[in-house]
Amino acid sequence: MSIRMARDRGLLCPQVFCDFCKLRIEDAKGGNFEYRVDEAAAPMEPVFFSHKRCSDSLRASRDPRGMWYCDELWLFPVQLGTSLSVDLKKAEVAANSL
Ligand SMILES: [Zn+2]
Repeated sequence: MSIRMARDRGLLCPQVFCDFCKLRIEDAKGGNFEYRVDEAAAPMEPVFFSHKRCSDSLRASRDPRGMWYCDELWLFPVQLGTSLSVDLKKAEVAANSL
């Protein structure tokens, strides 16, 4: 899993690391989340995170079966929050007050 807790500006917070180069993705605009699906569009593996520059290399290093789906990393927290029924506005206020 490429999400790890680490200290940032004095606080422990989740950080995302590239599944190819293993370096931290410091700006969501430079990253993707991606996953392979089978012919029925069912996910085949866990989600991978990558720098955009590492995406092709990540895919080439994995099992070639299936088809890759990919989205911008900045969408991930919103989509995850939605799937967890999180009130995103309330969560943002609470997280920024820690
Ligand atoms: Zn990378």
